[in-house]
Amino acid sequence: MDVKAFGLTHVGRQRQHNEDAFLVENDARLFLVADGMGGHAAGEIASRIAVDSISEFILHTKEDDGTWPHAYDEHFRRSTNRLMAALRMANTRVLEAMRKDARLRGMGTTVVAALADEQTVSVAHVGDSRAYLIREGQLSRITNDHSWVFEQVQAGMLTEAEAEKHPLRNVITRALGGALQVTPDASEIDARPGDVVLLCSDGLTGMVPESEILRIVTANDSDLEQACRQLIDAANERGGLDNVTAVLVRAM
Ligand code: CA
Repeated sequence: MDVKAFGLTHVGRQRQHNEDAFLVENDARLFLVADGMGGHAAGEIASRIAVDSISEFILHTKEDDGTWPHAYDEHFRRSTNRLMAALRMANTRVLEAMRKDARLRGMGTTVVAALADEQTVSVAHVGDSRAYLIREGQLSRITNDHSWVFEQVQAGMLTEAEAEKHPLRNVITRALGGALQVTPDASEIDARPGDVVLLCSDGLTGMVPESEILRIVTANDSDLEQACRQLIDAANERGGLDNVTAVLVRAM
């Protein structure tokens, strides 16, 4: 399928550094958002390593060469497996960087990735950066956060509303750089013309309610750049407590 995409990031109104990174690679139809963490600029390095290594992997492997050094999950298409392998490779790269430079110890990054082929958008993620599908005026969350509060919601210990305000809402349970092996979650969207996929960091979803995200994206249906700007403005108008990143991908 043909896709059109636009991405934007902003430091927000409270932070000194932007530890988010994103990629819009129209030729490969690869789209990424990563949200790094770690002191002394390490968060910026972690998210940059993730974005660079995932794009390098996708640009240098082919759909039909099944020679990736990772397990193949029969539940998913080849392109989805390729994307999951790219995330696992990025985990290794983040770990390698920490091994080489002690100042980077403890860094990590989330990532949410979308890779489109002829019919399908593959989505894979680690951490609490999210993907949403906006279709026919409805917004649905594609990813489940790898976060402590989300696990509590799933276990029935917290409501969604309590989770949003919880002091531990920023604690993530899975990240690139967090362990020797990482398991990305994946899903596949049978895309229809007009579908919009939003990839974003928690600097957006932590500040702007989903109803407002939906309103902004649908109000700027034909102008993805304008939609991205308004999403970032909305996060900053509500305090801009975190770095904020949005990538919008529209199926044509
Ligand atoms: Ca963040």
